[in-house]
Amino acid sequence: MIKVTLKDGKVLEFEGSVKVEEVVKKIGMGLYKAAMAVKIDGELKDLMTEIKKDCSIEVLTFEDEDGRWTLRHTASHILAQAVKRLYPNVKLAIGPAIDTGFYYDFDADFPITPEMLETIEKEMEKIIKEDLNLERFELPRQEAIKFMEDLGESYKVELIKDLPEGEVISFYKQGEFTDLCAGPHVLSTGRVKAVKLLSVAGAYWRGDEKNKMLQRVYGTAFTKKSELEEYLKMLEEAKKRDHRKLGKELDLFSIHEEGPGFPFFHPKGMVVRNMLEDFWRKEHTKRGYKEIKTPIILNEELWHQSGHWDHYKENMYFTKIDQMDYAIKPMNCPG
Ligand SMILES: [Zn+2]
Repeated sequence: MIKVTLKDGKVLEFEGSVKVEEVVKKIGMGLYKAAMAVKIDGELKDLMTEIKKDCSIEVLTFEDEDGRWTLRHTASHILAQAVKRLYPNVKLAIGPAIDTGFYYDFDADFPITPEMLETIEKEMEKIIKEDLNLERFELPRQEAIKFMEDLGESYKVELIKDLPEGEVISFYKQGEFTDLCAGPHVLSTGRVKAVKLLSVAGAYWRGDEKNKMLQRVYGTAFTKKSELEEYLKMLEEAKKRDHRKLGKELDLFSIHEEGPGFPFFHPKGMVVRNMLEDFWRKEHTKRGYKEIKTPIILNEELWHQSGHWDHYKENMYFTKIDQMDYAIKPMNCPG
């Protein structure tokens, strides 16, 4: 017998191994319908995972961050599948979930236009209707490389080659489409009830400007159409309150070509800024904080020591002062 402990402490018993989805069905069909992924002994897994020994499980829905990410990551696979159906020569890079939805980076020899996004979105809706099951499988390193080489997916080949030796190399298949992926994913494409493609932007492969510029398609996904509509409405409202728009209209600050993203504060803007800083300072003092000020640029050695170099190097900015290497501090820490 296998004992599966639920979050509320209840224990279910099964004869021999059992798929998580079967366990969830036993808990209740409502939960089964809402389930996105599962934590088995704290580890994030697919609902199609086979349980072979005693364990505890926590079922994740769209309300849980990991559940939400699982659904939206599946939506990114649906996007890639739709693009491959419509434009088979496009090469796939990466397609993660993000806080507000998901994106996928494509290498296409044509610009992806807003009209194309509509066509792609229609194809995605077809894939959702087809309700394709997601199947996970693993391949040994050499076979995995050959598999992606045969598909002409050179970016995926590069990703596999960069995985450390001994790392599990897993794939997810839905219908005719397979992607290199660590997972987890929802049970089937039909679980993505509402999807919307939002924009296209340029993105360098691996975030390196020396690499090719790819096209990043952004989208979002929800489990209910009404939730998607609410989100889109919120985006519209946010646009009206965009600081770039308000800054200009209220003569608070301006942004110039010479410093993209660096505001030039005008007199009125400085009044607002100073008031905010006064408020911020008072609240900190009230709570017992003391102020210090440290340099914005520090010797590269420090960033090696702090670990920023290992983890955030790609997003840091470096400079030379008197033949020595320096970097602008990547986070708001005192150094
Ligand atoms: Zn994936």
